[in-house]
Amino acid sequence: MADTGIGADGAGATDATASAMGVAADAAARASDDVGVAVALDSGYFAVEPKRDCPHVALVRPMLEFELESPCCDCGHVGENWVCLACSTVRCSRYINGCMLKHYEDSRGTLPPSLPLPPALRASGHAVAFSFSDFSFWCFECDSYVESPALRPIKRGATVMRFGEERAREAFG
Ligand SMILES: [Zn+2]
Ligand SMILES: [Zn+2]
Ligand SMILES: [Zn+2]
Repeated sequence: MADTGIGADGAGATDATASAMGVAADAAARASDDVGVAVALDSGYFAVEPKRDCPHVALVRPMLEFELESPCCDCGHVGENWVCLACSTVRCSRYINGCMLKHYEDSRGTLPPSLPLPPALRASGHAVAFSFSDFSFWCFECDSYVESPALRPIKRGATVMRFGEERAREAFG
């Protein structure tokens, strides 16, 4: 199905509707508790499948504190920024001033030797960030959206902040 074509003709509309429902049902089955996917589906199709075996998730700090309204700590941009999951700093996206990308680049090779990391991850910087815009996770090392059970508490915490505890309990239990 190349376009949305809904309403172009009867058969096309049926196909498009069935297909859209199939996508939603499939996504819901895969991640029934995944608010990010639900948000993405609300605003259109979420075509990019996140990587589920990103090794850099191991770099994510277990205790993170952040606020969804924080400005970029480098340029001061106020809006839907990202939080670095290695150091909890908030910076803007590549579509604003690219401060989070620069932070990642600057952080490569600076991980403290005391961290118990596999050698392959030694050179990694602060690779994984969380978007306040759509609650997605991006890994700069993998150059991909990522998902992991280890990241669920972060998304849950953000869901509480934006939508309240009740909604978070519905989504995450
Ligand atoms: Zn990765
Ligand atoms: Zn910035
Ligand atoms: Zn960082």
